[in-house]
Amino acid sequence: MTVTKVAIVGLGKIARDEHVPAITASDAFSLSAIVSRNATFDGVPSFHTLEEMLTEHPDMNAVALCVPPQVRFDTAREALDAGLDVLLEKPPGATLAEVEILMDLARARGQVLFATWHSRFAAGVAPAKAWLADRSIKGVRITWHEDVRHWHPGQQWIWEAGGLGVFDPGINALSILTEILPFPVRLVSADLEFPSNRQTPIAADLGLSGPGGVGITASFDWCTTGPQIWRIEVETDLGTLVLNDGGARVSAAGETLSTAEALQSEYAGLYRRFAELIDRRASDVDVAPLRLVADAFLMGKRSITNPFDD
Ligand code: NAP
Repeated sequence: MTVTKVAIVGLGKIARDEHVPAITASDAFSLSAIVSRNATFDGVPSFHTLEEMLTEHPDMNAVALCVPPQVRFDTAREALDAGLDVLLEKPPGATLAEVEILMDLARARGQVLFATWHSRFAAGVAPAKAWLADRSIKGVRITWHEDVRHWHPGQQWIWEAGGLGVFDPGINALSILTEILPFPVRLVSADLEFPSNRQTPIAADLGLSGPGGVGITASFDWCTTGPQIWRIEVETDLGTLVLNDGGARVSAAGETLSTAEALQSEYAGLYRRFAELIDRRASDVDVAPLRLVADAFLMGKRSITNPFDD
């Protein structure tokens, strides 16, 4: 088997918690460099810029971009220009246009671009999709309520324009929704709540619609202390399917389909998929979740709420 030499760009929370362990555990990849403005990682060569890394390691095959969305495009383009395959953390970019430009560039150069949606690799998502495939769907309710102070302490980029605010976790729900439903959905309404001192919303209520007027609601909230809720309920002609813990646990009409832990094995599956794409020289870029968020910003009614301080 060919081993892909991969460099991680941006050694923040998700890189340390998930990418490093997943790459280290994979036979298909070797963690060959880190590109970080500040950090180093024991036993792995570290560089301040992608350019420096490419000078020292012209034999690198791929990069995993774990920087915030606002600064991802230039690095992705530089990596594709240098002949590397590219994995993008979610969301794939700060705008739809930049993702399309990257897609065209990867296609023209015959390189792999993988716009990841880690939640789609949660243990319950594939069984949920299979169960729903031949059901008549009546309605969907998404509840994604968490505590931003717990999950995103001190992350300023998330509150700046392009950082998505509460849609940073909310887009994970939308990535599951657009994967498991057997039809496309569109946004019909959005109510967005912005702290008076921030550029991105702290809460959002969405209305979406499927064929025949199937109603879908999504409630995203970032001020929930106590039990954290990442749940999708799908009402069908044959009972209700419930995905809990971000897609890890799922039951349908009272029957258990998956009982994994939250985040368990999402990134192992994600890197298996990247290896498969590299093997086939194919890209995987689905902007559907980002489009729904962009539409929420286009359509959303805005209200201003109390200032938010970490
Ligand atoms: P983070 O902890 O803030 O890390 C981002 C890293 O990017 C920073 O540590 C920094 O690394 C680098 N960076 C480069 N330019 C930056 C800039 N202008 N501002 C801030 N950081 C900059 O964020 P994260 O939670 O890992 O999230 C990164 C991406 O992964 C986001 O798109 C997020 O949606 C996604 N994600 C996060 C989670 C999660 O649970 N946290 C889960 C799944 C996906 P250096 O100092 O090394 O340069």
